[in-house]
Amino acid sequence: VKHVDVLVVGGGHGGAQVAIALRQRKFQGSIAIVGDEPHLPYERPPLSKEYLSGEKPFERILIRPPMFWAERQIDMLLGNRVIAVDPVRHYVRLGSGEAIKYSKLVWAAGGIARQLNCAGHDLEGVHVIRSRADVDSMLRGMECANRVIIVGGGYIGLEAAAALSKCNKKITVVESQDRVLARVAGEPLSRFYEAEHCAHGVDIRLSTGVDCIKGSNGRVVGVQISTGEYVPAELVIVGIGIIPAIEPLRQAGASGDNGVDVDAGCRTNLPGIFAIGDCAAHVSGFAGDTVVRLESVQNATDQAMIVARQLTGEPAVYDAVPWFWSNQYNLRLQTVGLSSGHDQAVLRGHVEERRFSIVYLRRGQVIALDCINSTKDYVEGRALVTRKSVLKASELADSSVSLKSLAERVPIQL
Ligand SMILES: Cc1cc2nc3c(=O)[nH]c(=O)nc-3n(C[C@H](O)[C@H](O)[C@H](O)COP(=O)(O)OP(=O)(O)OC[C@H]3O[C@@H](n4cnc5c(N)ncnc54)[C@H](O)[C@@H]3O)c2cc1C
Repeated sequence: VKHVDVLVVGGGHGGAQVAIALRQRKFQGSIAIVGDEPHLPYERPPLSKEYLSGEKPFERILIRPPMFWAERQIDMLLGNRVIAVDPVRHYVRLGSGEAIKYSKLVWAAGGIARQLNCAGHDLEGVHVIRSRADVDSMLRGMECANRVIIVGGGYIGLEAAAALSKCNKKITVVESQDRVLARVAGEPLSRFYEAEHCAHGVDIRLSTGVDCIKGSNGRVVGVQISTGEYVPAELVIVGIGIIPAIEPLRQAGASGDNGVDVDAGCRTNLPGIFAIGDCAAHVSGFAGDTVVRLESVQNATDQAMIVARQLTGEPAVYDAVPWFWSNQYNLRLQTVGLSSGHDQAVLRGHVEERRFSIVYLRRGQVIALDCINSTKDYVEGRALVTRKSVLKASELADSSVSLKSLAERVPIQL
């Protein structure tokens, strides 16, 4: 049986970064990445942005050039799926039947796109956006599609709407909540994005569900929505979140429900097994010490570094400030901190100029900022979030005063 010192499951953002960081830190042992996609690690964010709109080819979204991995002796076992883990004897089993022994295991398997469970969810022309394969198969059907229905008004759904409206498709977004981005942003930001999409001709239906998807000869022809209306479409994109890919680990005895539970060192309760990225649930000081499972490149990358540091003998705890971005039309959103649980949202700047920020407070403390086309606020606001600065809404609302000067004024909260 093959033996690997550090075996990484998943060749996405987290998995790739663990291997990269280990070699940067002069780790001499053997490293292998088992990934079920046939591709070398690539960036997922462009899948709903520049890759979808055709502005960036696949080669330009690779995380590293192809020769990088061989040069650093990182063994790529692609097109392979881990189906079982034996945490006692330290080996994994692949779908091919092959077993691999490991000294340390890093589980970085991300998530599986959630599907609708109504009738017609499996018709041809119904797609999710999680992998290159998903987007490629969608693009193959795109030429004959004029009308597209996007189910889910989260970041992925809205980015897809923006990318496809550039390609002159008629787009309807169906969102079950009463505003878009309800899970991740405050109401003012939701309303702003709804108006932007509307101005680009995207039809957004709020508080609306999908009753069933209708087909003809196995292909989608439209969607019956909960208002009783029937909306015709040649293509349906489902963007309703992910299910963490943790089944083999759970079966091996890992604790966790919505994701694998990890401690501040990204360790699971199984010996020698770490978990990082979209599939890892951890306690976050940026969420009032509650358990969160973050889905962002920052989280996957920073957790990968925490694991690499420990595997090279340096104690490390994960306490990085969360950040995120989203590009839609010519709007660049940059987020720092986690806004959920805020009790106040302060607008800074001018919505009509499409350059503003929303500062989120909880009990007077700054917990997050959403910055639209205002990188300066994003960069300077980071200190307010990391320090949990206490500031008055009136001070934050005055955009003639820089956040940097506010950060310098308030004492650091411990
Ligand atoms: C369309 C889209 C747009 C996004 N946009 C942004 C953005 O703008 N900004 C941002 O910060 N984040 C964005 N994200 C989120 C970001 O891409 C993820 O948070 C990040 O990819 C998480 O990295 P990961 O390593 O945890 O998982 P992934 O990158 O998903 O990698 C997991 C890999 O593991 C593989 N795998 C799963 N199970 C197994 C198994 N049993 N055996 C072997 N391999 C397995 C999967 O196929 C996958 O290749 C976006 C995500 C998507 C899908």
